[in-house]
Order: sequence, then structure tokens, then C-alpha cells
Amino acid sequence: MTSQQLRATTEGEQRAGDALPPSIHPQVFQHTVNQADVAISITDGRGNILYVNPAFTRLTGYAGEEAVGQNQSLVSNHSMPREFYQDLWQTISQGEPWTGRLINRRKDGSKYLAELSISPVANAGGEILNYLGMHRDITELHRLESQVQNQKALIESVVDAAPMVIALLDVDDRVVLDNHEYKKLQADLGMAEPAPMLMSAVRAGLELDSGRGRRTSGYLFLDREVRLDPPGGRSPRWFSCSGSRVREDDTSADAFLAGQGRDYLLLVAKEITSLRTQQEKVRVAALQVLMADEDRVSGLRESLAAATFRLEGPLNMMASVVGMLARRQGETDPMSVALAEAIGAGQQALAELRSMIPGETREAFGAVNLNELLRDVLDLSTGRLLAAGITVIWQPQAMLPALQGAPNKLRSLFKALIDNAIEAMNTRGCRERELTVASKARLGGIEVDIADSGPGIASAQLLKVFEPFHTTKRGGGHLGTGLSAAQQIAAEHGGFLEIEPTTTRGCRVRVLLPLHRRP
Ligand code: FAD
Repeated sequence: MTSQQLRATTEGEQRAGDALPPSIHPQVFQHTVNQADVAISITDGRGNILYVNPAFTRLTGYAGEEAVGQNQSLVSNHSMPREFYQDLWQTISQGEPWTGRLINRRKDGSKYLAELSISPVANAGGEILNYLGMHRDITELHRLESQVQNQKALIESVVDAAPMVIALLDVDDRVVLDNHEYKKLQADLGMAEPAPMLMSAVRAGLELDSGRGRRTSGYLFLDREVRLDPPGGRSPRWFSCSGSRVREDDTSADAFLAGQGRDYLLLVAKEITSLRTQQEKVRVAALQVLMADEDRVSGLRESLAAATFRLEGPLNMMASVVGMLARRQGETDPMSVALAEAIGAGQQALAELRSMIPGETREAFGAVNLNELLRDVLDLSTGRLLAAGITVIWQPQAMLPALQGAPNKLRSLFKALIDNAIEAMNTRGCRERELTVASKARLGGIEVDIADSGPGIASAQLLKVFEPFHTTKRGGGHLGTGLSAAQQIAAEHGGFLEIEPTTTRGCRVRVLLPLHRRP
């Protein structure tokens, strides 16, 4: 088609209102089309080519004179389904533009993927006389797109098949992406979202650790072992969690220059419950040995203290009698002298006995998770609780702040209280046997309640039970130092212990411990 013919077709059918501004000469259009870097073709109403631009020739290999007069199907690879062309023609013949991707073939037989736009060109009466086709080679673009799609599919299937929980979280801990294992855990937890639970446990652990400073080389946190307590009193599950920051570039136009983005956290959690259960068994067994040793030593300490306490009274009494005797009979009275010597020897023996009382071992203060510590004490007492047929109601506050304390001493404190409760309930006539252990955070501290359904403590005894060597239990073997020692440990932590007086049934001991001991 010559430029005159083209001008005749386009100028002849130019619609009213589409007049060119005087500053633009009609030839500008011709030059624009000629020099455009996209393959342009103009056809008649049946798709027969009237004009192609040089870019069309460069892309397809067909020169203008080879293409003009041929149907546009000249460049078709004829591999698209029939319905595809039917849809194309139905759209454009109704005066609507059409855009799509199809496979074309060059003059040399090579194929390429084309992105084609066809615009109908109508005359003033709305009759479609021509079609304007514009297409470009998107083979490379498609290859890159497919590569990205394939990689995405590959990554998704790897992430899905990974034998660990993986979740991508936004800044509000909302799950944006997850995998199969994550969904499985969610189902196990009764559809509660596991990610926020894992994250709050991780954060609590990080708080406990603050100051110890671990190197996490690129990770926000690495191999943090956290525990999840599923609902319904099911056994706890343990996970080793790692988290790293993932940044997603903002694809909106606003962010094109600013390079904005969104931050996500990639949470990877590997279940280590069976490993942890084994470790726990070993740890509790070691604790049992340690506590038994401590029990033995503190028993010895208590026995010796009680023995010296009980011996001191009569010896003092005898000393004052000897003093009276000496005053009456004279200092040289042989009986008084002999008795004074015997008393002196007795007091020396008492002093030696006192020096043999094992001293308290000093224990450093550190961050203590009171829930875990209480759980340890309950684990240690499992045998006795089962033997006494006691039901344990364990009511910990889900997340407790860390407390500064001496773990072994605190363990002894709670062990003494639980031992007392077991003994109180393990008596004939005590039918209902229930031990409730509850923890909750209070302003600046933690409150632990240990309540039993035993006979309770008479109100007259409430203050006396804290006196050393006072016992309400009949029968041998009780020195009555348990509650006073427990009170002393609480005091060393800046806290105290109280027995609730209003309780109608059983005994409720409340331990209040501040998070930090005041200097
Ligand atoms: P055809 O038998 O030509 O067509 C297949 C079906 O399309 C028919 O059964 C019919 O339903 C419909 N059809 C065909 N011609 C008409 C018509 N005149 N009126 C109504 N319905 C019709 N095709 C490409 O493959 N690559 C291109 O780059 C391309 N560029 C085009 C540019 C323009 C401006 C236009 C108007 C069309 C273009 N086409 C292109 C479509 C092309 O004209 C053919 O329809 C297509 O290539 C299929 O050709 P065919 O020989 O395989 O089948």
C-alpha cells in the first residue's frame, strides 16, 4: 500500500470531531506509524493486509510487498484453538478492541509468542472498514514469567513438603503464607492459630534471656525452644523456632522511586517434643536426686537444730539450780563443783553439736520461669500424688513474667507446701482429694496458690504454724520446720506466704513473690 492509498483510507474516513489540531500535519501520523517500534498492520474488514510498518517486517521477516494483499493469518502458526479466533473476530467485528497472546510464525518458520492488540477503525457512520493490529514479541518475557512461576511452584512444593512448621507473618503476627505442617498443627490445636502462640513464647524466652546476648547471625532468633500447651490438658509440645526477616518490595507505582517495602517474619518451627520428653525425664530424675540430697541435708539440719533447741532448756534449768546450790552450800561444795563441771561438759557438747549443723548453701539469683518450676515440683511429686489418689488441678497463667530468684530454694519452698498438702489429704476419712496449684501475675509480682481439700488448719493455729518446731501433726517424724523454712525462703525473695483464713474447706496457702527483690 502506498502512502497516498493509506492517506486516502484514513483521511477519507476521518470522523467529525476527530479533526487534527492545525499544528499537526497528517504526515506526522504516517511517520509515527512508520517509525514505531511495534509491529503495526492495517487490514480491511476481512483481515486482509493493506499496510505493514518496518517494525512488522523486522519482526516477521515479511517485506511490505510480500505481506500486503495477504490475510493476517500469514503470520499465524495455526496452533491456537478455533474458538480463540472466533472470540477474536466476534469481539472486533462488534467494534470492540481485542488483546491477547498467541503463537506466530516468521517467514523463516521460527515461532514466537506475540502479544497482539486489534482495534477496529470505523467510519463516521460506525461502519468498520479497517482493523489496526499491533503486536510485539514477548517470547523472552514469557520465558522469564514462566521461570518465575516455575520457581514459585517449586518453592511452594518444597515448603509444603518440608517436615517442619513454616509460616510467613506480617508485623501484627498475622499469617500471610503457611505450609502443610502448619495447617496440621493448627488442626491439632483445635484450629487456634499456632503462630501467635509460638511468637509470644519466643518473645517471653527472649525477655528471660535479655542480657545473655546470643549471636544469631542474620536471624532475628535462632533455635529458641518453646513449649505449647494444647487445650484440654493434653501433653505439652516443644518446638525449636527460628525467625528471619523477609522484605517484600512494594510493587505499586508510588513506591517505584522510593523503593518502599513491607517487612515479614519467616517463622520456622521444628517439633522436638520426643527429644525434649527424653531430656525432661533425665532432668527430672537429676532434680529428684538433687532434691532428695537437699531433703536429707535439711532433715539433718532440722533434727540437729531441734535437738539443740530441746537440750538447751533442761541444761539452762540445771545450770540455774547448780547456781542456787552453790550459793547455799558454798562455791567449794563438792556436789556443786561436780554438777557445774557436768553442766559445762554438757554445754560444750551442745556447742559442738551446734557447730555440726550443716550450713545453708548459697545459691545465685537468676531468671526463673515459675510455671516451669511448679511443673517440676508436681512432676517430682507424681509418685506420691498417685499413691495417695490425689487429683491435681494445674491452673497456670499462660504467660508469666520472669522472676529473679534462687531456683533450688524456690523448688524446696513449693515442694514443702505440696508435701504438706499431700500429707494433710492422705489421712483416713479424707475422701475428696484434690490439689489445686495456680499461678498468676500480680502487679510487680507473681502469686501462687496451693489449695488442698484436706482437714484445713484451725484458725487458732493460723499464726503458730509459722513458728519453728511447731507442728499440728500428731505422731513422730514431724519437727514442724516446713512452713517456717518456706516462709524464710519467701522472705529471702522479698515475698511472703499466707494461709487464707476464710477458707471453708481444706487449706489454701498463698505465696506472693515480687519479680525483683528489693535491695
Ligand atoms: P481462519 O479460518 O482465518 O479463522 C479462524 C476463525 O476465525 C473462523 O472460523 C472464523 O470464525 C473467524 N474469522 C476469520 N476471519 C474472519 C472474518 N473476516 N470475519 C469474522 N470471523 C472471521 N492472527 C494470528 O494468528 N496472528 C496475528 O498476528 C494476527 N494479527 C491480526 C491482525 C489484525 C488487524 C486482524 C484483523 C487479524 C489478525 N489475526 C492474527 C487473525 C487472523 O486474521 C486469522 O483470523 C487467524 O490467524 C486465524 O487464521 P486461520 O487461517 O487459522 O483461520
